[in-house]
Amino acid sequence: MTGTARFASAICLVGGLAGCTGPATRPATDPTATTHAPRYPATQARPLSDALVHRRLVLGYSVNHRPIIAIERGDPDSTRRALVVGCIHGNEPAGIAIARALASTTVPPEVDLWIVPDLNPDGVAARTRVNADGVDLNRNFPYRWAPIGAPGSIHYAGPRPLSEPESRILAKLLHSVQPTLGVWYHQALAVVDSSQGPLTPERRYGYATGLPLRSLTDYPGSAVGFEDRLFGPTAFVVELPAAAMTRAQVRRHALAVLTTADRS
Ligand SMILES: [Zn+2]
Repeated sequence: MTGTARFASAICLVGGLAGCTGPATRPATDPTATTHAPRYPATQARPLSDALVHRRLVLGYSVNHRPIIAIERGDPDSTRRALVVGCIHGNEPAGIAIARALASTTVPPEVDLWIVPDLNPDGVAARTRVNADGVDLNRNFPYRWAPIGAPGSIHYAGPRPLSEPESRILAKLLHSVQPTLGVWYHQALAVVDSSQGPLTPERRYGYATGLPLRSLTDYPGSAVGFEDRLFGPTAFVVELPAAAMTRAQVRRHALAVLTTADRS
């Protein structure tokens, strides 16, 4: 079946799953829904026909109680699981447009795509790098966490690893989804970070978008460092340009994600 036909047959779920407080399994669908696709662990035989999903989940809430949304699209029993986070630093929001474009673009067959458009909605609302607690979420993850900065500093790592609801939400999602590819958007260096692991996905993404590869500093407590620690070197940072992107550029980046995910 072609990707288009598969998408046409997709099951569309728009659910409201609050909390994400269950055990470390992939997020459940709305228990009141009756038409959701069954989920199959990677260790079980694949069903004869793949049911596609398109669902929206509320993973939890920010410090100021803004919802943090995830959208799952594609084949939920696929072994290719890509996670895209559009924004973690609130004053670097360009990737949100790419995430939204991905939410309405046909996903290649055999790809399970998870999209978190905005992990730091309070920071985006306030146009600050940090969250509403003044914490740099990209220094708050538990791999190589260090007490960087002080309250009020834009690089403040927080009082302890995972002190923030936003980083806890994402850590729980990582354990649940176990992505084989992670793409995290930042601004504004206009490069693909080549500092983590095998470079094939980064090269593929850079080729598809025209962004050069450059090795950036691996900071303690970063989200990509944590994801790589959990699942091997599977995640990388894309530093978008400072200027607002055109529709064509947004589409190009969205297609780059799908091309990279299709081969992850
Ligand atoms: Zn950033």
